[in-house]
Amino acid sequence: MEILDGRLASQTIREELKLKTAQRGVEGKKTPHLAAVLVGNNGASETYVNAKVKACAEVGFKSTLIKLTEDITESALLSTIEKLNVDPDIDGILVQLPLPKQVSENKIINAINPLKDVDGFHPVSVGKMIQGLDTFIPATPYGIMLLLEHYKIETAGLHAVVIGRSNIVGRPISILLSNNTQPGNCTVTLCHSRTRNLEALCREADIIVAALGKPEFIRADMVKGGAILVDVGITRVADPGKKSGFALKGDAHFESVAPKCSWITPVPGGVGPMTIAGLLKNTFRACEEQDDSSEQ
Ligand code: NAD
Repeated sequence: MEILDGRLASQTIREELKLKTAQRGVEGKKTPHLAAVLVGNNGASETYVNAKVKACAEVGFKSTLIKLTEDITESALLSTIEKLNVDPDIDGILVQLPLPKQVSENKIINAINPLKDVDGFHPVSVGKMIQGLDTFIPATPYGIMLLLEHYKIETAGLHAVVIGRSNIVGRPISILLSNNTQPGNCTVTLCHSRTRNLEALCREADIIVAALGKPEFIRADMVKGGAILVDVGITRVADPGKKSGFALKGDAHFESVAPKCSWITPVPGGVGPMTIAGLLKNTFRACEEQDDSSEQ
């Protein structure tokens, strides 16, 4: 069994971006600039956004964190997005989900300028991804593809079982793995909460992408010998032994599943850091594409 080490792979990507960003400075080009919008006081959302802002600083990007209160109206949030859309200094906009219930997530996502859609959730980005066109890919599935690429995992012809059909992980990774690319070219089965015989499907999988958010759901008897396991799940589970009071658990029971796998991602240290790497790459790309459009 070998580890798909997301910390290591993301470090390589960050170093590359740091060099490219410094080079832009030498050439007198603008610094990539991410705007992150955080609504309310959700502890996990704050942790994720802070990690993204910190990662921007590490590679030399600018970032602006816009904190809004839980009771914000939809129209006030839409006008915040509109200001960011037209601000020439902002290259990428991310709105941390989930949003409070008075705000339609779809309306907010649709309002983001597709040229600044570094989360890749806008219908324009999703449509291009489905057509196999070059576009912003949602950060988590993008990070998974970068991780498979980093470790040169040959995926062509493999049967991938993806568990979870969310727009941010399961559905996009199922599309990417089925595309005619490397990594990709898999035969994909997309499973969800209504899937029958999930355990049997998992046992047939060469690759399992577990993105259901149920801690330690995947057990050793659900995994074929030599399978590749990408564990996307991150759930806070109470752990009085930890200073924080909780431990982070993946969707697989790592200790029993890992010995059966050829490759496996740990939690933490697998998909999480790669998600940040995906976001940074998207932000850099947004900045370069906006250079191109302002030169025309
Ligand atoms: P979600 O709740 O939106 O979707 C979960 C999906 O799992 C649903 O499609 C549901 O049908 C399916 N599901 C639930 N129970 C199931 C079951 N028993 N059998 C089969 N399918 C089942 O979740 P999400 O936003 O896609 O996130 C999934 C997990 O990934 C969460 O733990 C989340 O915290 C984690 N996550 C991690 C990262 C990262 O950077 N590592 C990024 C995003 C999400």
